[in-house]
Amino acid sequence: MGNIILTGDRPTGKLHLGHLVGSLRERVKLQDLGNYDEMYIEIADAQATTDNFGNIQKVKDNIIEVALDYLSCGIDPNKCTIFLQSEVPELSDLTFYYMNLVTVARLQRNPTVKQEIIYRDFNNTIPVGFMTYPISQAADITAFDANIIPVGDDQLPMIEQTREIVRSFNRLYGDTLVEPKAVLPQNEACHRLPGTDGQAKMSKSIGNCIYISDSREEVKKKVMSMYTDPNHIKIEDPGKTEGNPVFIYLEAFAEEKHFLEYFKNKETGEVEYKNLDELKAHYERGGLGDMKVKKFLFYVLDTTLEPIREKRKELENNIPEVYQILFDGSDKARKKAQDTLKKVKKAIGLDYRNDQELIQSTIEKYRNNNRQSEN
Ligand code: ATP
Ligand code: MG
Repeated sequence: MGNIILTGDRPTGKLHLGHLVGSLRERVKLQDLGNYDEMYIEIADAQATTDNFGNIQKVKDNIIEVALDYLSCGIDPNKCTIFLQSEVPELSDLTFYYMNLVTVARLQRNPTVKQEIIYRDFNNTIPVGFMTYPISQAADITAFDANIIPVGDDQLPMIEQTREIVRSFNRLYGDTLVEPKAVLPQNEACHRLPGTDGQAKMSKSIGNCIYISDSREEVKKKVMSMYTDPNHIKIEDPGKTEGNPVFIYLEAFAEEKHFLEYFKNKETGEVEYKNLDELKAHYERGGLGDMKVKKFLFYVLDTTLEPIREKRKELENNIPEVYQILFDGSDKARKKAQDTLKKVKKAIGLDYRNDQELIQSTIEKYRNNNRQSEN
C-alpha cells in the first residue's frame, strides 16, 4: 500500500498561525516532496455545523476563506484534492456504521472534546452531533484509505479514536480499513501554538488568533499587545521564556536569516543576537524589554506573511476559479468515498443487490419450509 495523506480544517473562520505551523506547512512540505500517491484536503463544513447549527452562514462564508488560505500558502490543487465534506454524503453513511463500534463512555473520555465543550459553554446542552464528531473524522480518514495525517497535537485523540474504530471494524468484519498515523511537525513549538492571550491553544473559536490573512497593521497591533511574562515588568527584571507566547512564536517562525538581517548593525556589521538562544538568554537574565522582542517578532511574522498576502490578493480576483477547484475536488473525492462505502457495506454484509448467496439461501429456506408444511 502507498502513502495517502489526508488533512482538513473546519470552515469556522480564516486560518491562523496555529494552522500554518501545525499543519499547513507540513502539508506543503509533503506535497512538494512528492513521496505520496494521493493527497486529500477536506474543508469540514459538515463537522462545523455541529457547533454552528444556528449560524450556517458563518460556515458558508468561511469555505472560501479557508480555500484562499490554502492556495495562498502554497497548496497546489494539481497535486492535492481539495474537497467539501458536505459534497461527499458517503461520509455520513460511514459515520453511521462506525457509531456502533464506539461507546458513549469512550466519547466522553476524549480530552479534546472535553476541552472544546468547556470552550463552547455547552454545559448540559451538548449536541449529539458534536459529541460524535470524532467518529465522523474516522469516516473522513478511512473513506480515502489515508494512512498519513499531518496535524497539531489537539488532534491526537481523534486519530487514536480512528485507529480504534479501524481495529474494531477489521476484527468484526474482516480486513477492510486502513489504520492511520498522525504526523506532528518536527518543531515542538508547532505542535500546539498558544493564543496571543497566552491560552494553551490559538483557536478560531476562542478568538485569540493572528490570522494568516491579517493585514500588516493588524499583525502589528496583535503582536504589540501580546501576553508575555506578567512578572517581567521593568526591562532589568529577569524574564521567563518558557510558556511565553512571544518566544514560542519565535521558536515556530524565526530562522537564522531573520536574526542575521534584523540584528545586524549596519555600520559595524556586528550581529547583536545570532540566534534564539542568545535572545532568550538575555531576556532570562534581565535587561531585554518586551517591546524589543515583540518588534523582532513582528518583523519575522511580517516577512513570513507578506508573500502569502500577495498571493491571496491575486486569488481574491479569481473567486469563481477557486470555487471550481472545490467542486472538481469534491467530485473526485466522492468517487473514492463511494468505492470505500461499497467495500464497507460489503464487509458488514449489507450488500443485498450483489448478494446471490442471500437470495439463494432465502429461496431454499422457503422451499424447504413449504415442502415441510405440505408433507
Ligand atoms: P475551531 O476552534 O473551530 O476548532 P481550530 O482553530 O481548532 O478551529 P481546526 O480547523 O479545528 O482549527 O484545526 C485544523 C488543523 O489545524 C488541525 O490539524 C489542528 O491540529 C491544527 N491546529 C489548529 N490550531 C492549532 C494550533 N494552535 N497549533 C497547532 N496546530 C493547530
Ligand atoms: Mg479545532
